[in-house]
Amino acid sequence: MKQILIATMNNGKVKEFESMLQPLGYEVKSLLDLPQAIDVEETGLTFEENAQLKSDTIAAQFQIPVVADDSGLEVDYLDGRPGVYSARYAGLEKSDQKNMDKLVDELKNVHDEKDRSARFVCVLSISIPGEATKTVRGTCEGYIAKEPRGENGFGYDPIFILKDQDKTMAELTKEEKNKISHRANALQKLKALLY
Ligand code: IMP
Repeated sequence: MKQILIATMNNGKVKEFESMLQPLGYEVKSLLDLPQAIDVEETGLTFEENAQLKSDTIAAQFQIPVVADDSGLEVDYLDGRPGVYSARYAGLEKSDQKNMDKLVDELKNVHDEKDRSARFVCVLSISIPGEATKTVRGTCEGYIAKEPRGENGFGYDPIFILKDQDKTMAELTKEEKNKISHRANALQKLKALLY
């Protein structure tokens, strides 16, 4: 059976990858299956650089195919920020609430929703020993809300209003989010690469 290692410690992400890759004949492992903790520092300036850094480093270490991801939120009015700094936008302690407060405050004088446009981005990178690394990018378009709404999801979901729907990402069920998210879009593109 073909083996693939997902470079994450997040069990939710592992499950998403499993449901897509198992039917294609892959045995899916993750960093949770390894005896030692592995932490590759995300020093890149783009999602692509960070994802590639993780998949390349781990594939070189274990000599097996590795998929890594990097994701975040890009706000057009802020020239793409918080971008690769999404998790630690308001400081190293990684508080979702503080990150959202900071973003809402930065847009407080921007009233028109078209000027508050934003997208979630997910880049997946696949490193197969002996082959060139490939990346795919999935996005989900929307705009930033004036205040949070909804209880589901994580991160910036409560302040991200989906384009063409009057709902925030946090007002979708997990199943609804998994059909339209940046991660789902990137996974579909990865699947096309694996066929
Ligand atoms: P990571 O790629 O899992 O490290 O995610 C980086 C950061 O981007 C997260 O900590 C969140 O702040 C943000 N982010 C990524 N994906 C989502 C999402 O689906 N909803 C809300 N926030 C997200």
